[in-house]
Amino acid sequence: MGVIKSDFLVIGSGVAGLTFALKAADHGKVHLITKDKASEGNTRYAQGGVAAVTSCSDHVELHKEDTMIAGAGLCHEDAVEVLVKEGPERIRELIELGTQFSKNDDGSYSLAKEGGHSRHRILHAADLTGAEIERALLARALAHPNIEIFEEHIGVDLITEHHALGNLTADFNICFGAYVLNKKTGKVLAFQSDFTLLASGGASRVYLHTTNPHVATGDGLAMAYRAGVRIANMEFVQFHPTSLYDPEGETFLISEALRGHGGILRNELSERFMEKYDQRLELAPRDVVARSIDSEMKRLGSKHVYLDMTHLPDTAERFPNIFRHCQEALKIDITKEWIPVVPAAHYMCGGVMTNLSGLTSMQNLYATGEVAQTGVHGANRLASNSLLEALVFSHNAFKKIIQKKRRDFSKVVIPEWNEKGLENKEEWLLVRHNMAQLRKTMWDYVGIVRSKEQLNRAYRRMRLLYEEVEDYYKRTKVSGELIELRNLTAIAYMIVISAQRRHESRGLHYMTDYPEKKEEFLKDTIIH
Ligand SMILES: Cc1cc2nc3c(=O)[nH]c(=O)nc-3n(C[C@H](O)[C@H](O)[C@H](O)COP(=O)(O)OP(=O)(O)OC[C@H]3O[C@@H](n4cnc5c(N)ncnc54)[C@H](O)[C@@H]3O)c2cc1C
Repeated sequence: MGVIKSDFLVIGSGVAGLTFALKAADHGKVHLITKDKASEGNTRYAQGGVAAVTSCSDHVELHKEDTMIAGAGLCHEDAVEVLVKEGPERIRELIELGTQFSKNDDGSYSLAKEGGHSRHRILHAADLTGAEIERALLARALAHPNIEIFEEHIGVDLITEHHALGNLTADFNICFGAYVLNKKTGKVLAFQSDFTLLASGGASRVYLHTTNPHVATGDGLAMAYRAGVRIANMEFVQFHPTSLYDPEGETFLISEALRGHGGILRNELSERFMEKYDQRLELAPRDVVARSIDSEMKRLGSKHVYLDMTHLPDTAERFPNIFRHCQEALKIDITKEWIPVVPAAHYMCGGVMTNLSGLTSMQNLYATGEVAQTGVHGANRLASNSLLEALVFSHNAFKKIIQKKRRDFSKVVIPEWNEKGLENKEEWLLVRHNMAQLRKTMWDYVGIVRSKEQLNRAYRRMRLLYEEVEDYYKRTKVSGELIELRNLTAIAYMIVISAQRRHESRGLHYMTDYPEKKEEFLKDTIIH
């Protein structure tokens, strides 16, 4: 088989992976693996935009304050400062790389306002911001002679000193790259590298209803967990209040920007209900809006609520993508009819713990973007801060890595992947059934509103699933589907045990048994 060597191994081709790869490529060979087409990932679906202070009526202190308020006491202040102070420079770079944000008639950038932001500061490209950023970055990466992109290659496990052979007596807790499955050939390859960046995105596919595309199965997080890397705050899952209610199709996000634009939420009785829950009405933070919708749906026994845009003049022009999707998927004209919406799992605030340079608790292993827990989101992410986080911390990881003196690992021998194993199709159907069960259990018991009893139930089911899947995995040849199921099971398990440990309600974690915040829980939930 041989080992595929590079200076930098990047796992994931969203905003985090591409930002890092483009910078690192001027200093060495980059191998970028990505499990689907390179353009696929959460980045591509981001609609609302990217938050940064770019106007003189705004200030980084205000952006910091808004971020910290949303984070409900758990934001790491130093990380938030890095985010808001360095953000504007990263935006300038993004524009230089070819990203085209929407502008006003006078040529200035059009800045939107979203829930929890005290100023208009969201740069956007109509309602296709993520797609525009991904387009610009990917075009540059494809053109760079030092970047080799391996599509349809899925990371299986990190390579650590436990796998490596050779003179490693003085080394422990160190990453040498990753075992990677080529989905087309079915072969597992060893990618060895001086530095590895996990940029594999989120894990919201662990829930039945999610705004995330199919690649968001938390692979990087699960790989890190299995390698013994520190993980934090997995209980903080952000549910987007408004995804399109489409019983037949895939979930589609109805961006927060529509509420920022003046959209009104109405229940089945046509009532504007947010005034009952929060004086900020439709622009209250996401967790408040999601819980309010959940409460109205439960109170009235309805499957969804509505977002009313019919009183606004320019909805079709401002949100062409959403306008078109609603017309095609549900045959509704959103300028004349209300949009049926439900909450859906959207963003993982927790992740692989890193310092301000993206370094994890394992040597030579970095993590940026949604897979990481840098401390900027705390118990709840402020809208449009995640694209910014990926840009800022990918840059800082790059800066740190190129300053580091490289060590000589030429004596390290990476063994081949052991492919011996059987495939039992009949049993595989049962395992597939486990996937559906897992996502439904997470939705029913570990969702927007949780209780001790629900979490205990979920724990019992997850424990069993985890054991079954691990056992099956050890006896079976790897495939993309099996890797994802194994990873989602680990993610579900981590979310449940983290939620069980937090005996309070804070940010996105709401427990009926403990409805208040508690001083003693003013800390991260860390899993080793
Ligand atoms: C519908 C939607 C709307 C959003 N809107 C906004 C917004 O307006 N503003 C904002 O700031 N944020 C928004 N977000 C969140 C934001 O898009 C993401 O947090 C961000 O794009 C994450 O970037 P990333 O590079 O970390 O991950 P991603 O863009 O998800 O990229 C991850 C990459 O890793 C690859 N990958 C995963 N596992 C493996 C593996 N095992 N092996 C190889 N490759 C792998 C994937 O294929 C993908 O290429 C939105 C998210 C969604 C889903």
